[in-house]
Amino acid sequence: MSDPHREVQVVIVGGGLGGLSTALRLCEAGTPALVLEAEPHVGGRARTLQVGGEPVDRGFQSLFTAYPATKRMLRDIGIGARDLVPFDRGAVVHDGTRWSRMGTSPRGTLGFEWFGPGDVARLARLGAEVAGAPANALLNGDERDLETGEYLAGMGFSDGAVEGFFRPLFGVITADRELRSDAGYFRFLMKMLLRGRAVVPVAGHGMIAAWAAARVEQLGGEVRCGARVAEIVPDPDDRGRAVGVRTADGVVIRADCVVVATEAPATRALLADLDRLTARALDLQPRGVTTLVYSLTSSFHSGRTIILNAAPLTSATPRIDLVCQESNLLRPGMGEGARLLATCVHGDGSAPDPDAVAAEMVRLVDTWNPGFPWARVATLEDVVVHPWAQFAVPPGVRDDLPDTATGLENVFLAGDVTLHPSVEGAVASGERAATVAGQHLARHASVGR
Ligand SMILES: Cc1cc2nc3c(=O)[nH]c(=O)nc-3n(C[C@H](O)[C@H](O)[C@H](O)COP(=O)(O)OP(=O)(O)OC[C@H]3O[C@@H](n4cnc5c(N)ncnc54)[C@H](O)[C@@H]3O)c2cc1C
Repeated sequence: MSDPHREVQVVIVGGGLGGLSTALRLCEAGTPALVLEAEPHVGGRARTLQVGGEPVDRGFQSLFTAYPATKRMLRDIGIGARDLVPFDRGAVVHDGTRWSRMGTSPRGTLGFEWFGPGDVARLARLGAEVAGAPANALLNGDERDLETGEYLAGMGFSDGAVEGFFRPLFGVITADRELRSDAGYFRFLMKMLLRGRAVVPVAGHGMIAAWAAARVEQLGGEVRCGARVAEIVPDPDDRGRAVGVRTADGVVIRADCVVVATEAPATRALLADLDRLTARALDLQPRGVTTLVYSLTSSFHSGRTIILNAAPLTSATPRIDLVCQESNLLRPGMGEGARLLATCVHGDGSAPDPDAVAAEMVRLVDTWNPGFPWARVATLEDVVVHPWAQFAVPPGVRDDLPDTATGLENVFLAGDVTLHPSVEGAVASGERAATVAGQHLARHASVGR
């Protein structure tokens, strides 16, 4: 079935931050784009639930205000500093026996019990190095050939600094407790952490996608939810290009170019029969995140902070890596009806059993805050499993990710899978895809003249 009214210049598959960033930049440049999103809401992995009418992220996330492309996008869709609630600097850490408070700046770490002699000076040196280097130079520097753990050992950090500071914090940020992510990416994240604040938008992370979609529509684009793309339709006369996409309900939307901005497995499936090389490059290792969302009738912890689990790593599962009463940021003062997120990071196909996570939460509460009447005050509202929260980036993986171009001359890629597994990776990829798609359209317009 072909829809005679649906002929567009650019169709974008996926309404996550990568697809919306592409659409925003194209629309700003005067090319109205159509975004097709399979789910009923935009935002993809950065969506927000409503629990009891209040926002709760579908998995704990924090945004670094220093992310360069994200900063531009927030500015251009009208999200300002007043809409971003900062976390307290640092985090609270529990190792199974004691509490400590970590700072995330070299000065903030003075007195942090886990640091051995020389660690503060090492952190100051690392901080100065990353502060002075452009973000792209950090991502592409020689350190990307080392795992983060190896790199930290090479800098001379003590075991205490790794176990009490870097592993609990970066294990959650990168969903990689083993610290195998490449050290170029680690140094980039370290710069983001030191140069700005970690924040949550006041209506949850989903606010970014919602406002971006609204801006796209103001600029003449269209964002359609509940529209799953089943296939990219090749040109019957030239399989090196596409004529558009076919949606799951069989409608063909013709387009001069197609931008695919979906998560790796979906992109791989869409390209499998058309561009095997690119599809193969998307054979990445998923890093999963499972989150239990609780409502509490009295507060478990105060402050705009996260609690990190620094207990020694064992093979026992499940392990809760982070706890955050997100309502302390989004709805301060909401003692009754507070919302708490408990997050486990895990690998490929190993999502923990939610009942076992709930039992582990009871055990942690008992260890962390004996006597807290968890069973009486906590109600489990939801379990959110993201098998593909991020993808693993051990050394070499980022070098081999597909670029914006594919083997089809008018099909382009966006999304974190083309850069690095973060909000910034997604948003920056969209800027890049919009430029390349715009150049393609301009070339073809001038050939046609
Ligand atoms: C729990 C969790 C915590 C995270 N924490 C952080 C953090 O603290 N900081 C950070 O920077 N990053 C974090 N991330 C990563 C970050 O959220 C992602 O990297 C980013 O949102 C990816 O955006 P994207 O647009 O590339 O992909 P997605 O958000 O996955 O968007 C892809 C979209 O494509 C749609 N789609 C798929 N197939 C089709 C189809 N056939 N047709 C139409 N639409 C389709 C999907 O429904 C989805 O909406 C976290 C992720 C998770 C899940």
